[in-house]
Amino acid sequence: MSYSDADRIRAVLQNAKHKETDNLNKADLVIFVTCSVKQKAEDKVIGHFHDLVKLKKKSIQIGLTGCMTRTTSNQNSEKKDKLLKKLKGLDFTFRIEDVEKLPSLLENEFETKDNDQSPISYFEIKPSYQESFRAFVPIMNGCNKFCTYCIVPYARGREISRTMSSIINEVKQLVKNGYKEITLLGQNVNSYGRTNDIYDEEIQKNEQEDFARLLTEIDQIPGKFRLRFTSPHPQDMSNEAIKTICSLKSVCNHVHLPLQSGDDKILKQMNRSYDLKKFKSIVRKFRKFSPDLAISTDIIVGFCGETEEQFQNTVQAFKDLKFDLAYISQYSQRTGTYAAKNLKDNISRQEKKARFHTLNNLLREISLKKNQAYLNQVVEILVETINKKKCTALGKTGSYKTVQVPLGNLKPGDFAKVFVTEAKEWILYGELVSERGKPRRVRGKKGVVKKLKRSTVGN
Ligand code: SF4
Repeated sequence: MSYSDADRIRAVLQNAKHKETDNLNKADLVIFVTCSVKQKAEDKVIGHFHDLVKLKKKSIQIGLTGCMTRTTSNQNSEKKDKLLKKLKGLDFTFRIEDVEKLPSLLENEFETKDNDQSPISYFEIKPSYQESFRAFVPIMNGCNKFCTYCIVPYARGREISRTMSSIINEVKQLVKNGYKEITLLGQNVNSYGRTNDIYDEEIQKNEQEDFARLLTEIDQIPGKFRLRFTSPHPQDMSNEAIKTICSLKSVCNHVHLPLQSGDDKILKQMNRSYDLKKFKSIVRKFRKFSPDLAISTDIIVGFCGETEEQFQNTVQAFKDLKFDLAYISQYSQRTGTYAAKNLKDNISRQEKKARFHTLNNLLREISLKKNQAYLNQVVEILVETINKKKCTALGKTGSYKTVQVPLGNLKPGDFAKVFVTEAKEWILYGELVSERGKPRRVRGKKGVVKKLKRSTVGN
């Protein structure tokens, strides 16, 4: 979401005749696009901010946006964001929905009474994308779920869905311009089109306007591209959406489905609105329709009052569900959330750390086994980065596995067929397969020359 926000900020500033630089010493303006999902992310922003203030030239302006801000304001505003008081040297803050007001903020012409922007104009800003082969496309903004540990509903407001025509136009244009991977973004992508406060009449009139239909419409855009989305919420994962995700050619065979805890009581305290049984049934359905589907998740360990027994329920869920990948967080309190006000953060740091390692070790084992299933298979990757010094390229399969290959003539944005020769926990290694797709003889791990198999996994 932060990358997508940055694409829109870049566009607004370019229209106002600013030029981008990657040299901090040359910058006259620095804007922090912040995330406050975790305390660590916020601490990092504040650390970078203080470093920058030490460097601060007379003329440099420093701004901050994203989840850490609540108000659009500068030092002249009557109603200042609390960060302007807290961070000495910060010149302005803005809610990302107000990004169009950025030039007036910079010119000190912004008035607080102008603070009435909605995400409508945010969605309609033509972004200036950072990369030339993959892009993030926001389809909704905000969240109605109010998980007790999360600040997003307060920072981003209630859910608002973008019109389908606007999303499709942006994707069509991207595909036309040669983009190979589109990631649909939202705090709850699969509740797209369902909220009461949808601003667009086109959506209100059409009850069919939902996530599954959106995916189907995008899939019909001609051209070769991959479609990803993040993040869906288990509560909103309809059977229709599951079938659609598993059947469309452009949709990657990877789903990120946040579990957060394997204990029903903790899930209730988190206000996650599903239990483990429901979560497992969703995973079962996905695997029924697409046995090769990779599933990743988010887990929070050490949530308020989590007992050893409750943590062991998460461990068991991990063993049962066999995720390909998991982002495991140690719970940290976010000021302003229900949990911060009403629940005790009473699990020690040490214990949180120990639980993190227990799950991470388990994940390593599962992930290694899952990756070993790719050995001697041909997969297709989209090259993301290259390392000329090491003569290697890194890419991702549709199932979100990272694969390293010899560089050859590859460049970022190329699709390549790869024969997998080695599997580690977090990475696969392989050899390029000839462009004509004909099997060719490659040198195996122990120097044995072997013939490639033709089977393909993980689109
Ligand atoms: Fe936060 Fe929960 Fe909404 Fe996700 S679903 S953004 S965790 S409140």
